[in-house]
Amino acid sequence: MVSYYIIKRPKRFCLQKLISTERKYYLMSTVVEYICPDCGTLLMHDNPVTLESMKDVHIQLCAVKRQQSMAAQAIKPTAAAQKPSVTQVQKAAAPAQPTPSMASPPTAVATPTLGGDTTISLSGTGTNYSKAEGPIDPEFKSKRQVVGSFQGIKVWGPIDPPGQLGIWGTQVTVDYDICIADGACIEACPVNVYEWLDTPGHPGSDKKTFMAREKDCIFCMACENVCPPQCVKIFQKG
Ligand code: SF4
Ligand code: SF4
Repeated sequence: MVSYYIIKRPKRFCLQKLISTERKYYLMSTVVEYICPDCGTLLMHDNPVTLESMKDVHIQLCAVKRQQSMAAQAIKPTAAAQKPSVTQVQKAAAPAQPTPSMASPPTAVATPTLGGDTTISLSGTGTNYSKAEGPIDPEFKSKRQVVGSFQGIKVWGPIDPPGQLGIWGTQVTVDYDICIADGACIEACPVNVYEWLDTPGHPGSDKKTFMAREKDCIFCMACENVCPPQCVKIFQKG
């Protein structure tokens, strides 16, 4: 008398249907079953102890399980090899040391705002208003005096803040009483020399282009050429 079944799942075989069918048998008898999670083999027996033994033997002999185990063993060393070492991680975390060939050109690195001496105030109580027409006087350095500085940038008088602000800068100079704050010079500058400076109360515009990083200037003349009212004058060193 056959007291147990070992049913292999054939190709294109509906296991669920089989289980359903066999469960009918199970309901009519005391047969218990085990389905291998790896290969799908269905083990059935009416003695649970015997079925447990069958299950143990099958687990040891299951070809699919063995193949999966071998595949996992083969993958493990590969994964370990791909895992970065502590040294590699530390190297990746460390900032890259620029080599001479990798170093950025000086034109691409903007220095921070100077933050130098400031001896003038933009929020004065002056009554002179000096909205002027361009262009900037290219000879202003021989006609005006330095009356102070703002964050280290020279200011050429006369000034009477907030309505009269004079000409600012040494190499990169802008006549603030002409500037209309359209931003063309900021857009044109390839090395980010300029930034906006609020100048509330000035009749020309309530902000100006401040040459905060004029030492970065590469004298490309772009800002001088694009300025609509021609209030920019670039003086090359030497
Ligand atoms: S001359 Fe060229 S680099 Fe210098 S401030 Fe003008 S746009 Fe910038
Ligand atoms: S381009 Fe001339 S007017 Fe326009 S923001 Fe610059 S300095 Fe002022």
